[in-house]
This record gives sequence, structure tokens and C-alpha cells, in this order.
Amino acid sequence: MFKDKTTGKHIGLWYFDAYDRKGKRSGAWMNAYRNQQRMDGSITTIVSNNSNFIQGKPGEPVLISWDDATTLFHEFGHALHGLSSNVTYPSLSGTNVVRDYVEFPSQLLEHWLSTPEVLNKFALHYKTGTPMPKSLVDRIEKASTFNEGFSTTEFLSSALVDMKLHTSDQDNIDPDKFEKETLKALNMPSEIVMRHRTPQFAHIFSSDAYSAGYYSYLWADVITADAFSAFTEAGGPYDKKVAARLSKNIFSVGNTIDPEIGFRNFRGRNAETKALMKERGFPVK
Ligand SMILES: [Zn+2]
Repeated sequence: MFKDKTTGKHIGLWYFDAYDRKGKRSGAWMNAYRNQQRMDGSITTIVSNNSNFIQGKPGEPVLISWDDATTLFHEFGHALHGLSSNVTYPSLSGTNVVRDYVEFPSQLLEHWLSTPEVLNKFALHYKTGTPMPKSLVDRIEKASTFNEGFSTTEFLSSALVDMKLHTSDQDNIDPDKFEKETLKALNMPSEIVMRHRTPQFAHIFSSDAYSAGYYSYLWADVITADAFSAFTEAGGPYDKKVAARLSKNIFSVGNTIDPEIGFRNFRGRNAETKALMKERGFPVK
């Protein structure tokens, strides 16, 4: 149960369904059972995080991988987005936002996992109780930029072909020819293939919600990295003033404010790509 720290007012309910069991869907996700709203009186939200951790045998600890921990923080970001909601209309509430903004709070939360405040409290060796050594944290951080040149390029080729397909005014497009010509015009290195070749790129024609929308994942990464740099440029990941601005302009507003304006109110300027370039290990001028 979440309560407002200063007023003690009830904010919402959060369920955590952590372990795998027979018949449960695989993977990890967040679910909103009830959206926050004030249309019908003051309704608080009910959200859950679901994952599939394997329960240890009696007396044995539950050990999760770094990837699982990242996913846990990611999904909790979605939950926190729902819990922070403070709007009137349910259709504009919590995570009912535009596509790149859906993944923004969740990806942002991932950044807190590697902070010493979290690691020194939770990432303790299960036998000795000692925290994760700094050298190992450094190695994880260093490895995070591995192959980013390749994966960013293969992603971008698919994202740009998706957009070009949807903005082309040609009839009867020959997918093979169109793909070839577009990649040539983009100067796509021949050593790297598209992440999704056009004939099997189901994403781009599955529904209007996804049309020309593959790029939104990368844009979500841009605003995420830029938002986290607002913390590091100030007092660090736990800077209370930046956190308050984030809550006020992004986490609590749902879809009631144009995201571009909301971001500007939070960041004091438009989103920039510099922080993501740095995060991915590209040279930044
Ligand atoms: Zn997500």
C-alpha cells in the first residue's frame, strides 16, 4: 500500500507477483487493474508487477540475474508511473500516454539499479553478505556499451525503412526493391543487415499504433538518457529537487500535457541526444 509521506493519504495499491507457477505467462510485465481518476470521486490506482523468478528450495535463497534485476526496476518504473498519476480523466491517467512516453519512466528507473545506494543494500553476496565489489560494478558498466555501434545501426535501418514505407506515396511498392534503394540512400554499411527485414517486419503493419513507430523505442531511449543526466548534472540520482520536477511534470500528469511541453518543463529545454550517445559509448562533441 502506498501513502503520501507528508499527508498520509492513501495513494494506491501495488501487488508483486514474483514467482513462476504452472500456467503463468512467461516474462515480466506491469498491469493496471484500476486507473487513478477523479471523474467518479477520488479513485486510487491498483497496479501489479509480475515476474517469473524461480523459488529456491526450502532454506535456499532466491537468486536473480543482473538482467532480471534490470527488468524488475523497469517494470516497477511502469508501476510507479501508474501510482504517481494525479489527473481527472481515467483515459488520460497513468501509463495511458503516447508510445515513447510509455517506456520513458520504466527505462529511467533502470538507471537506479547500479547506484551504490541500491547495490550496497540489496546486491549482497548470499553467503558472505558482502556488497558487490566496485571492480565488478565497473565491469558491468564497461560491458554495457559492447556492440552498441552494431545494434544502434541495425535498429536504425529498420526504424528508418519503417518510416520511409509509411511516408512514401508510391502505389504497389516492391518491398525488396524499396528496401534496397532506401538502404542505399541511407548509406547503410553492407556489413550490417537490418534488424528486421521488410517481409517479416510484422511490427510496422500490425496496427496503426505501431505504423512508423519503431523509431519511438529509440526516442524513448533519448529522453530517458537525457532525463537521467538531469540528475547527474545536479546532485546525483537521489537529488530531491530534480525528482520533484520529474514527478510534477512527467510521472503524475499522464497524458494531460503535451509530452514535449512536459519534458521541457522538467528539463528546462528540449530533449537532446547527447546523453544517449554518451551512454552508448559513442564519441560526443
Ligand atoms: Zn516496458
